[in-house]
Amino acid sequence: GAALQDRPVCVAGLGVSGPPVARVLMARGARVSVVDARDDDATLATARDLRAEGAHVLLGEHTLPEGTDLVVTSPGWRPDAPLLLQAADAGIEVVGDVELAWRLRPAGQRWLAVTGTNGKTTTVRMLEAMLRADGRDAVAAGNVGTPVVEAALGGSGSAPDLLAVELSSFQLHWSCTVAPHAATVLNVAADHLDWHGGLEPYARAKGRVYAPGTLRVANADDPWSVHLAEADGDPDTPLHGFTLAAPRAGQIGVVEDVLVDRAFAADPHGGAEELAGPGDAVPAAPHNVANALAAAALARSVGAAPASVRAGLAAFAPEPHRMARLGAVAGVDYVDDSKATNPHAAAAALSAFASVVWVAGGLLKGAEVEDLVREAAPRLRAAVLMGRDRGALREALDRHAPGADVVEIGATGDDAMPEAVAAAAGLAGPGDTVLLAPAAASMDMFTDYKDRGRRFAAAVAARG
Ligand code: ADP
Repeated sequence: GAALQDRPVCVAGLGVSGPPVARVLMARGARVSVVDARDDDATLATARDLRAEGAHVLLGEHTLPEGTDLVVTSPGWRPDAPLLLQAADAGIEVVGDVELAWRLRPAGQRWLAVTGTNGKTTTVRMLEAMLRADGRDAVAAGNVGTPVVEAALGGSGSAPDLLAVELSSFQLHWSCTVAPHAATVLNVAADHLDWHGGLEPYARAKGRVYAPGTLRVANADDPWSVHLAEADGDPDTPLHGFTLAAPRAGQIGVVEDVLVDRAFAADPHGGAEELAGPGDAVPAAPHNVANALAAAALARSVGAAPASVRAGLAAFAPEPHRMARLGAVAGVDYVDDSKATNPHAAAAALSAFASVVWVAGGLLKGAEVEDLVREAAPRLRAAVLMGRDRGALREALDRHAPGADVVEIGATGDDAMPEAVAAAAGLAGPGDTVLLAPAAASMDMFTDYKDRGRRFAAAVAARG
């Protein structure tokens, strides 16, 4: 705390991480200013609260307050935002919320970090459940639930010994000294390319999760994941792979539907230990088995018992809008995977069903859909497309799935989702699954992926 006493710190961005960051800084005696270019109602309300607590809040602003000597930026801000360029020019340090949390965390607290294009939230939640089942004082932090600064410092209670933390590529971009005990890059596929300026810088940002001394967990089935662990990780730390295939010595994998540990098993010569099998709440979709294996590896890296991995899986409940079954109407299953906001996630979702009426479209953020559509084609009975970038999906479908019926929804208002669901229902037959897995971000038509998923569920319920 001493280092922050009376220090003039600027918090850039009043989004999700900004308010808790400002509060932590004020509690440590910093002189806090908060800057945000927006001035909508929600921002104004947050600003009012923070002012009452002693922060100097500047809305409708893009410039750095005079005298600032540290900037804590919202992870969503791009490095070329005017305020951040100004800080860089003036030689003022810029860190993210995660870096701040790391610097302020209590001595001895260990972090288990999860990054990757898809599966972060699911994996971190599974990991938290496994650690709790093992009797550990562990808390999950990140995108869903508690912001990292709050979780690391314990809010009003005491700070946890272990933090299971989900890190986005943006947060990693703004972190420089974070050194987890163990970490994994679950997978790397095209997403947020417009922010990072290409796949290579995006992947490199994820590789930063491996610090000196960090035990490396890599997805042996994903070439980028393995490459980053080898190229960006500390070669003096163990590297353990997880795979949906049978594990080699040093790996965690699957043998006849049983999760098997040959990485952290007691026998140092590659002996196997069973973690969980049929009847133990092992997830059904392959991508969630991969997430469970990654979580198990991280839990085992701090000594969690096999029984705790099993119990954690049993206790785990998925977050909403991730492969959520809404029920059947007229023999057709409806599934909400609105969180599939990029092609790689949509591919995972589509691969879990045999005959699909696919509801997709939105903002593609610079990603290609060619591979996704080619691989999904045999499973696609029909597709209902909406959103700004639906044309790219339509063209790929025309090329690779000429047998699939395609309906485009031109509406963008409140009618759009009911129209899409009605069209999907008309195209689906008994035994089909109508799957919302948009492969795209939602902000062209919806507040966010949750709003999109809720509207889908409401339109389905209205038909049932
Ligand atoms: P994140 O926090 O990285 O966004 P989530 O756990 O919230 O990840 O899952 C987001 C979506 O990504 C899910 O709805 C599913 O479609 C897909 N997904 C989840 N895990 C994986 C995985 N391991 N590989 C590919 N896709 C995945």
